[in-house]
Amino acid sequence: MKVPFLNLKAQYDSIAQEVEQSLKEVLLSCAFSGGPYVEHFEEEYAAFCGCNWAVGVGSGTEALWLALVGLGVNVGDEVITTPNSFTATAEAITLCGANPIFVDVDHESFTMDPALLEPAITPRTKVIIPVHLFGQTADMDAIVAIAHKHGVAVLEDACQSHGAEYKGRRAGSLSDAGCFSFYPGKNLGAYGEAGCVVTGDKQLANRIKMLRDHGQSRKYHHEVVGVNGRMDGIQAAILSVKLKYLDAWNSLRRARASYYQKLLLNVPAVILPKEMPYARHIYHVYAVRSPERERLRHALTASGIECGVHYPVPIHLLEAYAPRREGAGSFPVAEVCAKELLSLPMFPELTEDQVVYVSSEIERLSADWANPECQH
Ligand SMILES: *Cc1c(COP(=O)(O)O)cnc(C)c1O
Repeated sequence: MKVPFLNLKAQYDSIAQEVEQSLKEVLLSCAFSGGPYVEHFEEEYAAFCGCNWAVGVGSGTEALWLALVGLGVNVGDEVITTPNSFTATAEAITLCGANPIFVDVDHESFTMDPALLEPAITPRTKVIIPVHLFGQTADMDAIVAIAHKHGVAVLEDACQSHGAEYKGRRAGSLSDAGCFSFYPGKNLGAYGEAGCVVTGDKQLANRIKMLRDHGQSRKYHHEVVGVNGRMDGIQAAILSVKLKYLDAWNSLRRARASYYQKLLLNVPAVILPKEMPYARHIYHVYAVRSPERERLRHALTASGIECGVHYPVPIHLLEAYAPRREGAGSFPVAEVCAKELLSLPMFPELTEDQVVYVSSEIERLSADWANPECQH
């Protein structure tokens, strides 16, 4: 049996008629850059997150970057985040001329460890960016309390957590602002590039709206230096169609995750992901931990099972950040994540049979490896 890591085609097939109808509307209206389809999606997505405002932009990276600029981050400032993320989180900080300061992650949730946060705060700290990794939020109450104590803003990197919840509230609504990516492979994915910032702060929303449109709020009245960061009408219309299904798709991911959980519970080769007591995890990524990650990955690939690694190198050890000289051993939990996490196939259209096959292959390999006669 072949099990892909993702299956975007299956999802497209399930909504093809609606998507094609909405595409045709945009094409006939010629509202290609910004415009009514973007505004409509912004309203719907703000409501989905439980926020007053959403600002559509070109990508998740751009959402993070413009949100940081909107929060006043400038050259020489410090922004705290974790090294266990996609590089874009740190990139957005660097693009502002600010310095990313890393704190390690918790060993169960793989999100920012609040116990390590306070010592990292300095008079230069402007913003803290917890990353809601793999579809589970960070421990936001603890993080926000420390930030408030020091007068520092909090920005959620919610690029992997559309619809995830923290104590019943949605990701993105838990701090000053939240950033989302609609890269095609995310839980809510466009058919191209897109992203957005959600916030309860109207002034911040207005600043980001100016920044995404060359620093103007009226045509040719450029008040600040901005960029072209507008969302496409075509992407917005597609996202409006897909948003209607997001809760159902996330529930399917949760059902597949609990099936993996049940089948793999007593398999010693892997440590399963943990849903924290505060969280509703939406399993953008279903990552298991194994000290034999590479061996497992090769064996599963040979069995027709496509896996992923998120992420093979923690940000502080990437070549791009080499001049910082934070060597191996600086962030031990993030480094274990990079060595041991293996992402199994996970998408709403994954069938129960496929989950059974993946789990039974892991169980079979684990039994082989535990048997000394099979060591090779
Ligand atoms: C995908 C992702 C981003 C970047 O989003 P793009 O839309 O690809 O620019 C940022 N942070 C995290 C955690 C992501 O997973």
